[in-house]
Amino acid sequence: MKAMKRILILILPYKGLAALNMLFNLIQILAGLFSLGLMMPLLDFMFNNNKEALKPKAIEAGSSTDFTSMYNAFIQWMTEYVQNDKKQALLLICIALIIATIIKNIARYLALYYLVILRNRSIENIRKNIFQKILALPLSYFSNEKKGDLISRMSNDVKEVEWSMMSSLEAIFKEPVTIIFYVGTLVYMSPGLTLFVIGLLPVAAGSIALLGKSLRRKSKRNQEQQSNVLSFLEESLGGMRIIKAFVGEKAFRHKFNSLNSSSTLANIKVNHRGDLASPISETLGIMVAGVILWFGGNMVFEGELVGSAFLAYFAIFSQVIPPFKQLSQAFPMVQRGAASLDRYEEILNADEKIYEQSNPIEIKGVNHAIEYKNVNFAYGLDTVLHGISFTVPKNKKVALVGASGSGKSTIADLLPRFYDISNGEILIDGVDIKSLSIHSLRSMMGIVSQEAILFNDTIAYNIIFGLENVSKDDLEKAAKLANAYDFIMQSERGFDTIIGERGSKLSGGQRQRIAIARALLRNPAVLILDEATSALDNESEKLVQQALDNLRQDRTTLVIAHRLTTIQDADEIIVLDKGFIIERGNHTELMEKRGPYFKLYNTYNDDKG
Ligand code: ADP
Repeated sequence: MKAMKRILILILPYKGLAALNMLFNLIQILAGLFSLGLMMPLLDFMFNNNKEALKPKAIEAGSSTDFTSMYNAFIQWMTEYVQNDKKQALLLICIALIIATIIKNIARYLALYYLVILRNRSIENIRKNIFQKILALPLSYFSNEKKGDLISRMSNDVKEVEWSMMSSLEAIFKEPVTIIFYVGTLVYMSPGLTLFVIGLLPVAAGSIALLGKSLRRKSKRNQEQQSNVLSFLEESLGGMRIIKAFVGEKAFRHKFNSLNSSSTLANIKVNHRGDLASPISETLGIMVAGVILWFGGNMVFEGELVGSAFLAYFAIFSQVIPPFKQLSQAFPMVQRGAASLDRYEEILNADEKIYEQSNPIEIKGVNHAIEYKNVNFAYGLDTVLHGISFTVPKNKKVALVGASGSGKSTIADLLPRFYDISNGEILIDGVDIKSLSIHSLRSMMGIVSQEAILFNDTIAYNIIFGLENVSKDDLEKAAKLANAYDFIMQSERGFDTIIGERGSKLSGGQRQRIAIARALLRNPAVLILDEATSALDNESEKLVQQALDNLRQDRTTLVIAHRLTTIQDADEIIVLDKGFIIERGNHTELMEKRGPYFKLYNTYNDDKG
């Protein structure tokens, strides 16, 4: 029931559609009951021995229940209406049957029509929520949680919820109403017999509930196994180069086979368990039917029930079985859906970690300085930054240098709050960045990273990315300053050229210049540069360097320097080692000191030579 309630909450925004679905279900049920009921006069007229005139048996059998007297009154009315003509009566019944069936089926279609919209809209909502949440989650989430797992949640689990939603909607809106109306009719027709029947049902329902419970457990395990397979696939695809280079095919094949086989096993178990529901409920249903035939038949023999009424009773009863069967199948489905829903909610409830305080301060630019004050930071348990303090005055340039892994990127990532610091403060004009609106903080920053991040779309889209109402002039100006204009113009469709996945159709230097144009267009007050020109040839490097110089003008800049030649003009150079600042000063001072910077500088020049 709890599982059902959770699924119901998903469709809450679409109450209107649910109401329409219920309305048409109701019409469908009533029309169905009516056509089944027509069986009684049909039987009575067909099997009465009088060749010409009507004289139904029901009238003769003198039982005195409400139901019988109502039915007798109906027959009386009908006999008069068709002027005692048997053929007329038959025609009337046939026409009524056809009309009732048409109404029933139109209602059935309309009920499904609204159900389909309801279901698909709710699923759309789930996908939307997951994606929105993914965008809101901190970067740290994606390094811990595997991408394949997210993809699996987005596809497999959403499918499961969809199936389960379909079952539960019918289970909530249709089957119970059908059962109530049908059973109500049965009670009306013969309270004694129905009471007896109802006594039999809890036994059947109980055994099916037990089955559902075990299915939910198995199903959750099954989903996990499937997502393991996807994660592993994702990881293998990403690392194909390495797998081949280190001839790891055999190990990967083994691991995949083992994951694949346990996922298959789990799936087989879930399917077997699910398939049990239907045979069990059918057997139980027929057992109940057999008992009813026996008792009801005896009642007819003893004159307590008219024969035609008993047959109609039995026909209606047989129509009660399918909704019970549907209900019994719906429960396991709902349980499976709930297992997927658990996984969906795990994402929705994942900690966003980077919180904005209420009434955050909007910021437009830097008036005085950015200041790191005694900053410590740990990814998980490993502290990777220790007591980092430095200041970047407005429109000045501070460079971070040091061996790989010394903490340069981490320091830069803290400023746009990709991660939050454990200890210390980062201040902009004296205000802690945690009090600022994250949107305004990130909006005033331009970030050019080592690996230009581009999307499979046009050049213009990649430069404009995220901005609105950018004029063609501004776009071209940015491209020109970034030294990108010429090669853009030379490509097939200019700014409308599609650049391939991650910009694969461009060279490394071209990708960088697009990224720089993107940063230029935003005209950010603060620049974070992860300078990686080492992978570029000399010509490209010069073009990129020029573009960077254009970008840097009049901006407060934090540079991660890989080539020390490009930062000799920095106002302060900070030398890092294992998360500690070991030296600081400008280029001339540091060279004179002949310390770590001097060594780094010479190593670099030696490498070059
Ligand atoms: P640099 O930019 O100087 O090469 P980083 O800031 O990337 O150095 O890394 C500093 C330290 O933090 C390294 O020891 C690195 O292994 C660790 N590190 C970096 N990113 C993560 C991460 N997402 N999770 C855990 N540890 C990380």
